[in-house]
This record gives sequence, C-alpha cells and structure tokens, in this order.
Amino acid sequence: MINRETLYKYARDFGVELDDSMLSQFRLYASELISTNKKYNLTAITEPDDVIIKHFIDSLAVLKFFDLDYGDKIIDIGSGAGFPSLPLMIAKKGMLEVTFVDSVRKKLLFIERALKVCGLRAEIIHARAEELSLNPEYRETYDVATARAVAPLNVLCELCIPFVKVGGYFVALKGANDELDSAEGAIKTLGGKVESCVSYKLPNGDSRSIIIIKKISQTPTAYPRMYKNIAAKPL
Ligand code: SAM
Repeated sequence: MINRETLYKYARDFGVELDDSMLSQFRLYASELISTNKKYNLTAITEPDDVIIKHFIDSLAVLKFFDLDYGDKIIDIGSGAGFPSLPLMIAKKGMLEVTFVDSVRKKLLFIERALKVCGLRAEIIHARAEELSLNPEYRETYDVATARAVAPLNVLCELCIPFVKVGGYFVALKGANDELDSAEGAIKTLGGKVESCVSYKLPNGDSRSIIIIKKISQTPTAYPRMYKNIAAKPL
C-alpha cells in the first residue's frame, strides 16, 4: 500500500496539489498495479515508494513544465500500465479526453481495470502507433501526444507527431537529456519544432528530462513509415 503523505508531499514539490479523492485514486491504482503484477509482468517497479516516485511523480512532473488544460484531447502512445496519462487524468480530475494506445492487449486490459477502480473513463485502443496514425480519424486530431519509455526520441517522433494537430504538442518523457541532437531531423521533417527541453531530478535523485515539441506544420503523408523502416533508418 502506498503512503498518502509521501505521495502528497512529492507531488506538491512538483507544484501538483492532490486532494483526498485523488490520493485515494492513486492508492487504488497502485494496489491494482501491484496485485496484477503478481499474475503477469506489467512493470519491474512494484515497491510502494518506487511506484510513487518512478511511476506517479515521474508522470505528474509533466504538469510542472507543461500546461494541460481541462478538456485537452491527449493520446498516450505505448501507454503500458498507464504512464504518464493515467496519473495526469487523476490530477486533472478526469477532465482530460485521453486515448491510450498500446500494441500489447494485456496492458490495455490492465488500464481498463485501473480506470474502473479509479472511476475514470478513457478510450483504449489496441494498435501499433505507426498504423493507427494513418487512419484519418486519429491523424492530426490531438492537442497533445505523450510517451514515456517507448523508443529513442528519433524513432518516437515518427510514432507520435503524426497524431498531433497543428498548434498542438508532443510531450516526451525521457531520462538523460542527450537524445535531442539525434532527433532534430525527425522533428523538422514531421512538422515539429522544439519548444523546450527541461532537465530535473526525481525525489530519489534520478535524472529526467521532458522535451516539448510544438507541431507547426502538417506531417507529410509519407510518414509514419512501417516500423522496420522507422527503426532501421530513423529520420
Ligand atoms: N509508457 C509506459 C511506462 O512509461 O511505464 C510503458 C513503457 S513500456 C517500456 C513500452 C510500451 O510501448 C510497451 O507497453 C509496448 O507494448 C508499447 N509499444 C512499443 N512500440 C509500440 C508501437 N509502435 N505502438 C504501440 N505501442 C508500442
């Protein structure tokens, strides 16, 4: 069981004020994560304090550096067990329109249950990102795309930027801030422009960075390519 006070304090240090009902939602989410993980592997991080820092605070850190508005339409690519967008939904009182996308069905079944125990609603799609963004229903229709721990930034940009509408943002949660140089070409080709890149530390001292990319023009229809080409020849 996670410690409410610890979560409350660390979140506040990142400028996020969690009320009682949000803290209860995080507790339910954590116990669902820890108990499901005993049956099948969703995450290597299961110690309660690690779940707080490495999953919840790591996700909530977005709110310190990026303004998410109530009602924003967000797509979380490679959402795994729901990070970062499920914590963001909790902190924003469920008032974000979130789509979770993952290529592994069992992870989405977990998200479905986690949303249910938290009393939240979202769209859940079992798909590969590079295929889904070819569908006009999803292409360039989101205010924000997010992703954490899915692929190197130069690959990730091709998976995420096609979903973002012009004027929207791709928010990438990364470890050390050393991937931007190799992704400059991809960002430009896909219609993006780096707005900011901030580095910070989690409460345990681990280094993280958040890269915020603004979509300034449409993504050419040639992208995204098939995954084997994206990975073999990143833009
Ligand atoms: N974002 C979560 C987190 O931070 O805990 C999960 C990270 S996990 C290491 C990467 C996830 O991305 C996996 O669940 C995997 O199935 C998914 N994934 C990888 N490539 C993908 C793709 N092209 N389309 C959709 N999902 C993808």
